[in-house]
Formats: sequence, structure tokens, C-alpha cells
Amino acid sequence: MSNLVTLLLNENIKALKPYESARRLFSGAGNKEQIWLNANESPFANPYDIDAERFNRYPDCQPPAVIEAYADYAGIATDQLLVSRGADEGIELLIRAFCTPGKDSVLICPPTYGMYAISAETCDVGVERAPLKADFALDVDVIKTFKGKVNLVFICSPNNPTGTSVNKKQLLEVIEHFADSAIVVIDEAYIEFDDDNTWANALNNYANIAILRTLSKAFALAGLRCGFTLAQAPIIQALMKVIAPYPIPEPVAQIAAQALSHDGLVNLEQQVSLINQEKALLQHALKQYPEIELVGDDKANFILFRCGNKSGLMTHLVANGILIRDQSKQLNLDNCLRITVGNPQQNKQLLSKISHFFTNQSSTQEA
Ligand SMILES: *Cc1c(COP(=O)(O)O)cnc(C)c1O
Repeated sequence: MSNLVTLLLNENIKALKPYESARRLFSGAGNKEQIWLNANESPFANPYDIDAERFNRYPDCQPPAVIEAYADYAGIATDQLLVSRGADEGIELLIRAFCTPGKDSVLICPPTYGMYAISAETCDVGVERAPLKADFALDVDVIKTFKGKVNLVFICSPNNPTGTSVNKKQLLEVIEHFADSAIVVIDEAYIEFDDDNTWANALNNYANIAILRTLSKAFALAGLRCGFTLAQAPIIQALMKVIAPYPIPEPVAQIAAQALSHDGLVNLEQQVSLINQEKALLQHALKQYPEIELVGDDKANFILFRCGNKSGLMTHLVANGILIRDQSKQLNLDNCLRITVGNPQQNKQLLSKISHFFTNQSSTQEA
């Protein structure tokens, strides 16, 4: 680092490393031969139309067509919704609006999505932890001990990377416990794979919940960078104070509106059910291997499993052009790998490479 950078760089930033996103870990591997099953993206690339007529103008901060369509889809009022650059920006806006740097903290429940802690750290906001129990249920008693110590409680349901959804009664207990002291942020990035468990229809009953949504997963638009925060109007109005003036580029607004149209939603439903079918096939096939233990649940578009020789399997798959994600560094997930459900052809190839791996492994052991 140059002397000037060392002199000026914020203390809390010095210790940080750039986030190891799934994409960054394999950057440069972007040729068409690769099968990308590492970032919980959709395998389907849907076509969209773009109208360049308004590209000379700044876009609306909150494009009305997108806000109206998503409010309709989620069954909420338009003043209970904020659109942002992915759900990731929603996380950051909540932290920036509701936590004072160097003073306040957030609570996370690991193993879980990495960006809550990273966003907090870049904002010089503290991170407290209430680990999930062995079965990945919330540890409600431990969570409750943080009352008065945290401003935001991040709860991911369905949870990434465990695929488990949070018990509604337990979550309600947490929401009520923090009613006058913290906002409970429910991350529903994968809710289309578990739609019975959404909290969107309870928004009017709780002033201290915020729900995160995204077009990156089931909607197959990770490249669009478009996400939503759902909450009662006072929380949304607070977030409007910290969001950039033009966060949603015009082409993004156009594509998001098409994805949320009637035809877009019909397509969404078909693709979600295809992914669910493929997920069941993958689970069934993986269960046949004594070396593999499925971990967590299947409420999202990925499968988590434990494998004694996870490094060998991971290396074998990556060498054969199949990119998956190592989750073994996460709390209580030793030897765990996560595989995103791909399209039928990708999943077939994945299973064939896994089969090669274990066949060769047992023949080397016998030799
Ligand atoms: C992928 C993911 C996000 C990020 O969504 P973007 O809209 O792409 O920023 C947020 N939360 C969880 C749990 C995720 O898995």
C-alpha cells in the first residue's frame, strides 16, 4: 500500500479483504464450456426487449412500472416497497440508515449469507452472532439476549447455504421480542422455492420487519442487479434518505417490468417447478453414495452436502469444468459443498462426473 493510502484509509477498512463472491473465485473461467453451479443462479436465460428512446434522460429513482408490478406480485402497497441494485444494496441501505458507525451493531445467525457481516464491517458497524442450532433452527433464547445491543437482526429464510426455512412461530417470537428495539430483516431471496413461508402478507401487522427480495435467483436475472426491500412506509421512507438519486438504470427498469408482467410470472412459475423437479432428481441420485450426506433442507435452488473427501471431489469437478461452491469454512459446515440446481443436461453431466469420481476413488483404494 502507498504511504498516502496507508495514511488515509479508514481503520475499519484496513483489515478487510474484497468479498470472495462465487463469481470472483472463478473469474477468468468464463468460457462457454464451464457449467456454473456455484452461485445459485438460474440456468435459464430469458429474452427481453430494450427501448433506447429514453436513454438520454436520467431514470426515475423508483421506476413506477417496476414498483407497481412488484407490489402487485408481493401483495403489498406501493409505499411499502423500495427497489435497489440487488438485495445486497437493500442490506447496505438498512445498515447505513439504522446503524451509527463505530457505535451500533447488527445480529447474524451463522452459517448464513455472507453479505450481512461484510456490509456491516465496511460501514464500521459491529457484528454480533447467535449461531443456528445443530439442526439449523434459530437459537431463540440466545437471540433474545441481544435485545438493546443490536439495531438489526438478519434472518435468512430459506437460508443460504443450508436450504432450511425458519419456523414461523420462532421467527414471530423474535419479531415480538425486538418490537421496540430492532428491525428484524427477513431475507427472502429464495422465497419462490418456499412461497408458503413468506412474511410479505404479515407486513401490516409488524412495524419492525423488513423483507429482502431479489430478481437474481428464481427470476433468472442475477446479471440485472435488481432487488427489493418490503416494509411499512416509515422504514421505506428512511431508506429513501440514503439511496442514490438514480440507482436503477433505465434498461434495468424495462427488463424488470417485463419479468414481472403476466407472461414473465407464468414463465417464472414453470422454471421454478422445473428446478424443483431437477432438485429432487439430484437429491435422490446423491443419496445413493455412502460417501455423501445431504445437509440441511431443500427449500431453495441448491443442495448442500457433506463429503469426507470434499477437496478431492471439488477439484475433480472443477477440473472437469463444473464449478461448485465450497462452504466448508462456514460455522458447523465442515466438509460441506453446495451445488446449484442446473438445467437437466447440466445436472446429468454433474452426476456423471460425480459417479466417475467415486468409481475411480474406490478402484484406487482397492489397488
Ligand atoms: C443471492 C442472495 C442475495 C443477493 O441478491 P442480489 O439481489 O443478487 O444482490 C441476498 N441474500 C441471499 C440469501 C442470497 O443468497
